[in-house]
Amino acid sequence: MKVKKISHIAVAGDNPEQSRMLYEDILGLKFSGSELVEREGVNTHFYRVGESNIEILEPLSLESPVGKFLEKRGPGLHHIALEVEGLDEYVLKLKEAGIVLLSEKPTKGAHDMRIIFIHPKSAGGVLIELCEKA
Ligand code: ZN
Repeated sequence: MKVKKISHIAVAGDNPEQSRMLYEDILGLKFSGSELVEREGVNTHFYRVGESNIEILEPLSLESPVGKFLEKRGPGLHHIALEVEGLDEYVLKLKEAGIVLLSEKPTKGAHDMRIIFIHPKSAGGVLIELCEKA
């Protein structure tokens, strides 16, 4: 049971072309692909940064969670994801400590990861994702 690294930093955005120009063309990061996560109503675009990624979240509709986020707050930092070993043990430990999670159990995210989110109100105002390779 350990946190291995920052898996990704996710940014909600409504202009993936502009993000690509900044991250790939100007900053020279490697674009490592897009993945549709239909269940969350989002298209994800990944840029490699060393061991981690910047993930651009592009909502598929205004009703999706990221669509609502954009409507309420505009583009910006959405969440920080930590890759862990022992996700299920972490979930138990978090629940025991009374930490608020966004779902009862881990769900399936992009890149074949099992993921769960810690509510910002339990994490100093930051949405934190814990993820583990499925
Ligand atoms: Zn994420």
